[in-house]
Amino acid sequence: MPNVKAKDILKDAAERGYCVGYFESWDLESTAAVVRAAEKMRSPVMIGFCGEYLASPERKYAEDIRLYGTFLKEMARSSSAPTATLLNESTDIKYAYKGIGAGFDMVMFVDEEMRVERLTDLQKHLVEFAHSCDVSVEAELGVLPTANRNTSEMSQGLNTDPELAARFVAETGIDALAVAIGNVHLLEWEKAEIDLELLEKIHDKVSVPLVLHGGTGIDKSMFREAAARGIAKVNVGAGMKRVVINSYKRYFEENDVSGMNPNLILGRGGGADIQRLAHDELVDFVAEFIKAFQGENKAR
Ligand SMILES: [Zn+2]
Repeated sequence: MPNVKAKDILKDAAERGYCVGYFESWDLESTAAVVRAAEKMRSPVMIGFCGEYLASPERKYAEDIRLYGTFLKEMARSSSAPTATLLNESTDIKYAYKGIGAGFDMVMFVDEEMRVERLTDLQKHLVEFAHSCDVSVEAELGVLPTANRNTSEMSQGLNTDPELAARFVAETGIDALAVAIGNVHLLEWEKAEIDLELLEKIHDKVSVPLVLHGGTGIDKSMFREAAARGIAKVNVGAGMKRVVINSYKRYFEENDVSGMNPNLILGRGGGADIQRLAHDELVDFVAEFIKAFQGENKAR
């Protein structure tokens, strides 16, 4: 579907009381799996990449963001489900601006350590420029704890304050607000405790669609309650990568790849293709979330 806007997708979800999934991919194969799942479920969806990872200084080779933006635009255009694109969580604001130029339909800049006055100022200018290009902006107020799988520990978070959030949204003009209400980034081994009362207070004060990051670590039964209290988008990332990692791991355990034709393992897309097998598992994983988001059959 050509030119589906993120803000329209979020507005529809907020009005009809379901959540749109933003399923963060990292390459062609994983993006295609997200789109396939959305088509299968006849659900609106958001596709995209993480600005922090694309621009990470750990990368040995620099990525050209225009390739990613163009690719996503084409994926969204050719999808039969309403599909919008997001450059999620750029930790360098310049990269969020670059995302606008690269054709992303929504961008997000985060800095959880920045003072709120400065953050408000930067977001406001980003919004002004983005809106002049017909691009939307998501921003976060509060701090999400981050889970460490190695130590099973979580960093300190800071819940979103409803009054501050109302002021932040009014002063910046952002299109969607990511909230910290007990949700945790990268949580895989247990489910986070979501503060629905706090969410309701934020929803009472803030009119823009609300976003829950850390979808992997939230119990699927919570999404109905969250949608009823203004959550229009849920981000899922870590769980998708785990699906693919586990799929590859199982493949190498079950197959003696050294004796196999490499074309069967990679690139032909048949029954023994390692990427296709992971792709199918990813489609099922995403579809399960879409069902929990009540996104099924919401495409129109
Ligand atoms: Zn996030």
